[in-house]
Amino acid sequence: MDISQLGEFGLIHRIAEHLKTPAAGLVKGIGDDAAVFEGPPGWEIVITCDAQVEGVHFLPESMAPEQIGRKAAAINISDIAAMGAQPTFMLVSLGMPKTTPVSFVDGLYQGFKQECDRFGASIIGGNMAHCPERIFIDITLLGQVEKGRALYRSNAKPGDLAAVSGPLGDSAAGLSLLLAPEVRVDEKVRASVLKAHFTPNPRVDLGRALSASGLITAALDVSDGAAQDLGHICEESKLGAVLWAEKVPLSQACKEVGKAAGKNPWEFAMFGGEDYELLFTFSEENQPAVQKVLTKAGFSMTIIGRMEEGDPKVRILAADGSAWNPKSTGWTHF
Ligand SMILES: [Mg+2]
Repeated sequence: MDISQLGEFGLIHRIAEHLKTPAAGLVKGIGDDAAVFEGPPGWEIVITCDAQVEGVHFLPESMAPEQIGRKAAAINISDIAAMGAQPTFMLVSLGMPKTTPVSFVDGLYQGFKQECDRFGASIIGGNMAHCPERIFIDITLLGQVEKGRALYRSNAKPGDLAAVSGPLGDSAAGLSLLLAPEVRVDEKVRASVLKAHFTPNPRVDLGRALSASGLITAALDVSDGAAQDLGHICEESKLGAVLWAEKVPLSQACKEVGKAAGKNPWEFAMFGGEDYELLFTFSEENQPAVQKVLTKAGFSMTIIGRMEEGDPKVRILAADGSAWNPKSTGWTHF
């Protein structure tokens, strides 16, 4: 059997089996956006890593080195944000062919630094290796959160509402334009979805506000699409969920790309990913209080689903309550 037969999440489950022995001071191990261990009195330390590989995650022809650096940093910062933590220190491991221009490395680090500066994090070291075939960027990022305040995927309760902090699908819509350059859209629309794809915006301030509120039962950042990511909360919380497809907020640009590409734009939101908005759950009675937290932090909140007892599966429903079928829903109305 090779790893493609197991798939990413099958492989994670298998690795989790190897890591079952408890580590002293570990508060939360494999399975969430980041791991958590005990920090100085009153704090817990959050740590995550993520690798970006040339040709898989980025193409140097279509992105400036600063953009590649910013995105690689932002993806990690977003995982720390999803834990409700403040990013602190970053380590960068780079693998590169010998022929890599120095200007590429300079640009990359400018990107890392720009993104870290936005959130008060510092790059404190790393490692370099020769990688003859292609560039890879492996970032490890630490953060800190007040003891007991980390937002996990595992504490959602039956009946909890699931909400997102902003529109989904723009990044996938941007990627679809890169993959199908023949699709014609307005320049403003193109620029807007490409920006979402190339320069995601980690929701650190919102994560901190949600953590401080004490109202949130589960949270993660939307990196794999609404359906898959709500599924991650289901798995870790051992619950099912319904996801109301057409409740998921879309930008006008995302709708325009769907129309031009002959695709239901909600597919971008449901199965695309890389949006890096936060998806979080809370009890229905706390909805007004959570709404206040969002408004105060300068974000909108859209309820897109509900947790329920049952197998860890997401049922995607159309407005009339039937199973959602992207081919048959009302997307041609735009
Ligand atoms: Mg994540």
